Amino acid sequence: MRNAIEVIRETDRKEVRRYLGYYGKKADAAIEEQIGFCLEEMCTAAEPGAVFRRCGLILHDDGRIRITALPEDRVQGTLMETASKSLARNLQGCCGAYLMAVTLGQGPDLVVRRAAVLSPGKMVICQAAGAAMAEAWCDEVNREIREEASRLGFACRPRFSPGYGDLPLTLQKDFETALEMKKEIGISLTDSLLMVPTKSVTAIIGLTREDTDCDIQGCNSCSSAEGCSYRRT
Ligand code: SF4
Repeated sequence: MRNAIEVIRETDRKEVRRYLGYYGKKADAAIEEQIGFCLEEMCTAAEPGAVFRRCGLILHDDGRIRITALPEDRVQGTLMETASKSLARNLQGCCGAYLMAVTLGQGPDLVVRRAAVLSPGKMVICQAAGAAMAEAWCDEVNREIREEASRLGFACRPRFSPGYGDLPLTLQKDFETALEMKKEIGISLTDSLLMVPTKSVTAIIGLTREDTDCDIQGCNSCSSAEGCSYRRT
């Protein structure tokens, strides 16, 4: 896997503009300059981390989805269970799954908090920069997972996070336990199940023996999206 800091330093400014609502348009020179400053400050503060784990998957006829430990794991049992219809559609035909969690660490949150006091405009740009950086880091970890899966003879479906479609945020608790997120990469959960640090992402990635050609950035960017029955909502 590539160095995390290098990856987030290469975050695409187009993505930052998209989070700011520019949708393909260029921002004016002053905003472009601010985007550059904010990306630099957020990158300097970041301490990215990632953890992932391959798991078993059982798709029940009644729609329940069970993600389990692998037979070779030290502790056996169910890691998470959900009846999400959106996830079930995405995982049709899958025979395993990865759980993943990534974070940019506490530093970017401190930058955003400082900016909130000094300049609300800067805070908004830092938030957008952080969201784009977290996605860039997620893509890199997702690539690593794809490579590992490919060595094992699997193809990967696009990652699917709690909060997409009807996949509930309550699953964050299961991610916390299954991936030991606090111990491994310092992610904890608030009472309302938000992750701290805030620039953190969890996701499930389905594994299939079919030769699917999923886009790393997911269904919205995929050229095969039309007519694909596994498409995310
Ligand atoms: S739309 Fe594309 S990325 Fe999404 S599941 Fe289908 S092939 Fe994969």
